[in-house]
Amino acid sequence: MDAHSLVPEEHYIREQPYYEAVGDEVAIFEAAYKNRLPVLLKGPTGCGKTRFMEYMAWRLKRPLITVSCHDDLTASDLVGRFLVKGGETVWVDGPLTRAVRVGGICYLDEIVEARKDTMVVIHPLADDRRALPMEKLGQLLEASSDFCLAISYNPGYQSVLKDLKQSTRQRFVAMEFDYPSPELERKIIANEAKVDPALAEKLVKFAQLTRNLKGSGLEEGASTRLLVHAGKLIASGVEPVSACRAAVAQALTDDADMLAAVEELSSSIF
Ligand code: ADP
Repeated sequence: MDAHSLVPEEHYIREQPYYEAVGDEVAIFEAAYKNRLPVLLKGPTGCGKTRFMEYMAWRLKRPLITVSCHDDLTASDLVGRFLVKGGETVWVDGPLTRAVRVGGICYLDEIVEARKDTMVVIHPLADDRRALPMEKLGQLLEASSDFCLAISYNPGYQSVLKDLKQSTRQRFVAMEFDYPSPELERKIIANEAKVDPALAEKLVKFAQLTRNLKGSGLEEGASTRLLVHAGKLIASGVEPVSACRAAVAQALTDDADMLAAVEELSSSIF
């Protein structure tokens, strides 16, 4: 995210995002927010975590500042840095600092991807201190009472190197996300991809078959996101087996045998 573009007004979500609640996640998040507790969303990619955050930001009327973490992301990327502008050195807030100042919701997506030094700034924000250490400015910035820290991670990708430490995870109220129930997933696909319920049902059946392959060749099965993509292609006139190949199979794997296996599944349904 470009630090210069972080104007809080632009981060308000004006229209209600379409979100189908799966369980009591809305009530839990609201209670956590009320009590100034940070939140951890666990779950596979494409199962609705980002959409949920957009919905909650809209509901709570707070700006949402999302950072997709990657393995080069440092504490300075989150907190900010000095930049030279027109011969002058100026301080530019990073996205986390902006959220802390303006009382926004900062959503750090796939937190385990980030460099380990990011934890130094996250820990004091995620406990009673609710303060952001700004090392370069020699300041400890107290978070606005409206500030909320939310992070996500996918336990499925867990490895010794990329796991969330107990010292981190035990600071958060944690919620597990998973693919929605078949009925709900049908409804979501029909709504998002504008396809009829019968087609949505077939896509969900196909997804379930691919999810059974998890662990025996596939790292993950088809997510709700991929089904929405396939549905959109089909709604635009692409033949279903081709749509499933492009939007789902090729997105899941490069392995020729697995591609053939996934294609067999879609051919058996469509
Ligand atoms: P994640 O952040 O978990 O990777 P997203 O929130 O981006 O996943 O979800 C991917 C897509 O799946 C969304 O853009 C939306 O189309 C759909 N989706 C998944 N779950 C839901 C839900 N509960 N309500 C509405 N849409 C959903």
